[in-house]
Amino acid sequence: MVILLFVVLLPLGYVVNQVFLTFYYQESLQALDRQSDKIVNIIVESQERGMANQVVIAMQMIDDGVAILNSHRQVVIERNVETNLQKLLNDQDWTQLIAGNRLIKEEGGGSGQLILMGKPINLNQQFHGAVVIMTGMDAIEHSASQIRNVLMLSGVGALLLALGFTILMVRKLSIPMLNMVDAAKAMAKGDLNVRVTVESHDEIGSLAQAINELASDLKRFEDSRKEFFVNISHELRTPLTYIQGYVGLLEGQSGNEEHIRIIKNETQRLKRLVDDLFDLSQLEEGKMALTLEWVDLPEVLQGALDSVHLRMREKNISLVVEEEETPLLLLDGYRMQQVLINLLDNAIRYTKEGTILVTTQKVDDEVHILIRDTGIGIPQQELPYIFERFHRVEKSRSRAFGGTGLGLAIVKKLVEHQGGTISVQSNVGQGTEFRISFPIGKEERDL
Ligand code: ADP
Repeated sequence: MVILLFVVLLPLGYVVNQVFLTFYYQESLQALDRQSDKIVNIIVESQERGMANQVVIAMQMIDDGVAILNSHRQVVIERNVETNLQKLLNDQDWTQLIAGNRLIKEEGGGSGQLILMGKPINLNQQFHGAVVIMTGMDAIEHSASQIRNVLMLSGVGALLLALGFTILMVRKLSIPMLNMVDAAKAMAKGDLNVRVTVESHDEIGSLAQAINELASDLKRFEDSRKEFFVNISHELRTPLTYIQGYVGLLEGQSGNEEHIRIIKNETQRLKRLVDDLFDLSQLEEGKMALTLEWVDLPEVLQGALDSVHLRMREKNISLVVEEEETPLLLLDGYRMQQVLINLLDNAIRYTKEGTILVTTQKVDDEVHILIRDTGIGIPQQELPYIFERFHRVEKSRSRAFGGTGLGLAIVKKLVEHQGGTISVQSNVGQGTEFRISFPIGKEERDL
């Protein structure tokens, strides 16, 4: 609004200033024209009637500079003239006057500028000299500067008014809107405890209230969903353990080995899913207790590699491990192993053939663990969502490959629970790379 005001006021100010300058200039010219005409008439009349002193009286009535010149361009009489008129009037000007024309001339510059008007004195059709009358531009400038001051003052006033109005609008509209945007963003990120203050009872106030209601509704759903997860995973664990136990007993006794094998496999799958659900609900509730200890990363990694080694061999996938020396990290060794197994499992599951590259490195004040595969990859538009629970890239993918859709959600929560971050890069058809980073504590940095 302020810029808009500037854009309107500046050209307007300029135009008004120019209009007034032109107006005053024209007015001055007309005044000079009238006065010079009067003096010429008086001179002509006084010549005819022999009243020379009339001319002097008339000249005294004029405030501006006035002079009478004879036909030889010599000044006969002058009043208030501060310049050398003979010098000022050149041959060309004089010829113009002799020819019976009016002369208008501007001399000097800035506030000292002069407007000069000359009129020929003709007696009996014969040139006898000229009347020259002049006025300074400073009078015009003075009037114009007064107008400029008024214009500036009103401009500043308008500007202050616009500024006040803008501040008022910002307070009333923009700030509550921005607060609501922040609240909506926080809600999108999962913080459902945010609330916006309802300051008015207009449309903005209603919107704020609607956002607050939405947040509390979402919170209620989220809470009941978490509770449901906790309950169901907890309740399912006990009967599943029994089923697993009894299937184990039946194995080799019933004579119906094929069916028992199917029941065993499916029970195992179900157990995995329920365990994952249980872990996730514990993590989300913040109930998962970590046993933090100083762990040696290569040791944890070796444990994870041992447990996926067989599956890797079955699928004929080769493994390359590149380990840099890294400091000890304060982590939960068991949970860290679970993270690595999960990522390695995925890498094996979604790679038909090729290599899995595992790298550990120290980058500045962080330790990075990279797990890169040459598998089917993940489309770019899916990448932001793969850490969400039950998110599957292609809806059939997970089932076909035998996953639960919970693995990465648990991995992310576990890594973050231990103070780290995880990111992913992927190209469809080329492979996927997961990068876990943990900050190195101050003590180990100094070691
Ligand atoms: P799932 O148990 O189905 O593998 P995850 O949470 O571990 O579930 O992974 C979520 C989805 O991310 C998977 O369904 C899969 O489509 C994709 N994904 C995970 N890791 C990889 C990988 N290394 N290569 C390709 N796709 C992957």
